[in-house]
Amino acid sequence: MKKITTLSILAFGMILTSCNSASNKNNSTESTTQSMSDTVATTQPVHYEIAYLDNKKDPTCGMPVTAGVSDTAHSETKVIGFCSKECKTEFLKNPKAGLAAAALKK
Ligand SMILES: [Zn+2]
Repeated sequence: MKKITTLSILAFGMILTSCNSASNKNNSTESTTQSMSDTVATTQPVHYEIAYLDNKKDPTCGMPVTAGVSDTAHSETKVIGFCSKECKTEFLKNPKAGLAAAALKK
């Protein structure tokens, strides 16, 4: 009788331990996932709709706008997308040459 009680206490203790470690694991995974999704949400760049742009390529660096647009400029009647502010600044120094290099959509 005494033996059975000891065994059951041991078994119970083992279950508790395994439960604890399992739930701890789950908790840490959850918090990691949550902080990761938070980071994604805060660092997500402003989304520009490629369809509204009149250029296919960043006129300054030649990168396709489908690779990502983080800034835009209006020139004449065109909306030009750029991969970065630096490219936009460069474009604004000489918009005419930029438009020629922008691979404008027809
Ligand atoms: Zn660029």
